[in-house]
Amino acid sequence: MGLESFLIRIKDYIFPVFCLGCKKEGDWLCENCFIKLNLTGVFACPVCHLSTDRGIVCQNCLEKSVLNSHIAITKYEENGLVGKVIQTLKYSWAEDVLIVIEQMIERFVDNYPELFINIDFVVPVPLHKKRYVERGFNQAELIVRLVAKKINKPFKNVVERTRYTKQQAKLNRADRLENLQEAFSSKEKLLGNILLVDDVFTTGSTMQECAKALKNAGVDKVVGFSIARG
Ligand SMILES: [Zn+2]
Ligand SMILES: [Zn+2]
Repeated sequence: MGLESFLIRIKDYIFPVFCLGCKKEGDWLCENCFIKLNLTGVFACPVCHLSTDRGIVCQNCLEKSVLNSHIAITKYEENGLVGKVIQTLKYSWAEDVLIVIEQMIERFVDNYPELFINIDFVVPVPLHKKRYVERGFNQAELIVRLVAKKINKPFKNVVERTRYTKQQAKLNRADRLENLQEAFSSKEKLLGNILLVDDVFTTGSTMQECAKALKNAGVDKVVGFSIARG
């Protein structure tokens, strides 16, 4: 037995891992549970959620969307398996659950390689410094590195939050829009097509604002990519 596998055995002994699906000891998601995941993709307009080819913006929403399209690997269900995987990654300091996400990304990219051919750079949605400190790491950045590696395109962490966004719920509508505007900017000029990556896509407002910052920096197209879409 090599030193590495010996150390992994010790770690497994001290911190046993149980499948998030069936609770069997051994892996974060056992093979039987992994094959139950639906990895056929969610391709829908980033604004109105209408199903579209490759997730491109529908005709009706063209003027409302900075994102050119949005792709997700799977549907987000908080109490479903994918929800558990993402929650575990975010809140349990369990970075090795990333192995499951890596397998999902690999499977998806192998099924749809044509979606990534025209991408020039892979960029993460940034987490604000304050939240970064609270949580210790940016899960979007970990995920985006896996995506960049799999599609063999350069990773660029260029979008930054220019100020802390106040809690949206406490603001009226006008203030809400203003609150999100200019919350992001790009650290450098960029050309080409960007794959903008986050873990979960819900309303899409954060991704739209990041896309705006990227287009202001010279980018041509921005394709949103998420592990799951709510
Ligand atoms: Zn299982
Ligand atoms: Zn639409």
